[in-house]
Amino acid sequence: MAKHTIVLIPGDGIGPEVTAAAKRVLEAAGLSVEWVELPAGATALEQGFDNVMPDETLKAIKTHRVALKGPVTTPVGKGFKSVNVQLRQKLNLYAAVRPVRNLAGVKTHYSNIDMIIVRENTEGLYSGIENEVVPGVVTSLKVASEVACTRIARYAFRYATRRARKRITVFHKANIMKLSDGLFLNCARHIHEEEYPNIQYEEIIIDAGCMKLVQDPSKLDVLLMENLYGDLVSDLCAGLVGGLGVVPGSNIGDEAAVFEAVHGSAPDIAGKGVANPLAVIMSGVMMLNHIHEETLATRIRTAYDTVLAEGKTLTRDLGGTAGTNQFADALIAKL
Ligand code: NAD
Repeated sequence: MAKHTIVLIPGDGIGPEVTAAAKRVLEAAGLSVEWVELPAGATALEQGFDNVMPDETLKAIKTHRVALKGPVTTPVGKGFKSVNVQLRQKLNLYAAVRPVRNLAGVKTHYSNIDMIIVRENTEGLYSGIENEVVPGVVTSLKVASEVACTRIARYAFRYATRRARKRITVFHKANIMKLSDGLFLNCARHIHEEEYPNIQYEEIIIDAGCMKLVQDPSKLDVLLMENLYGDLVSDLCAGLVGGLGVVPGSNIGDEAAVFEAVHGSAPDIAGKGVANPLAVIMSGVMMLNHIHEETLATRIRTAYDTVLAEGKTLTRDLGGTAGTNQFADALIAKL
């Protein structure tokens, strides 16, 4: 019998290609796993489900508590509520954790980047509460609750302490959104003062924070922010270390965890076999650490570090010519 049961959501666009590659790598590294493969996104509708976030998929994640997910497509300005927002809200996956670091062999403008982005995942402007007040006037509500702000702050400080990180920087806009971002700051300050004085703490208005990020990102350590800011800053930071193909992520709750790359379904390159599977593979490594398979995690990490450092088999986004499967094969050869 397999040691682990993990839900696999291939997703849309490049999702099936990159998750299949990640699955091969995880198995080749020695993971004893039974995959429960279920759809989400446009793929779920194509397979005859009446919802982009089928109950069956949600139920399986609740039961097995761990999922590896490919990206899904969300229509712009109309259509169904984002699968990702639904998933994070319905399973209370309140912390998005995204490590952003330089990789040997991946050329970038900056060096010595080693940041962790901790993003509040359940509220803010992603609460989906929008109104047409009168024709031509609409509102989108930004929600902040003491419970969720305290919960994410505590998560970030605990994470920083366990990982021997030194400093948490909160990006905010409390000079304008005095109540919502003000509450976010108050909760972070409170957790710092009352529970984690061991970690240095600073606050930066997000516009100045973005400038600092592109001036010298090596100065930043753990970044804590609310939902929308975390979404935008994640892609910005991905750009600093080589792009969306190299930044993994996790969505963590008390009852379940879903691991997925920061990138989307990349419709421009879907089906061509050229997407970089590394971000999903790295998300798989985060998943292995989460399920206490640290040895396998290190094995895969060492293998992709070697492939990247050699620079012979890189995907197009990293300046190479290798396809998705070719990269995965090169990695498997190094395990
Ligand atoms: P995207 O991340 O899909 O793509 C942005 C650019 O990066 C594209 O040029 C794409 O080709 C490239 N890219 C992304 N991942 C890559 C990879 N692994 N290898 C090589 N190149 C890669 O962002 P987008 O185009 O703004 O969004 C497309 C769709 O994805 C939208 O429907 C959006 O809502 C959705 N999306 C989903 C998730 C998720 O499911 N977690 C996250 C972000 C966006």
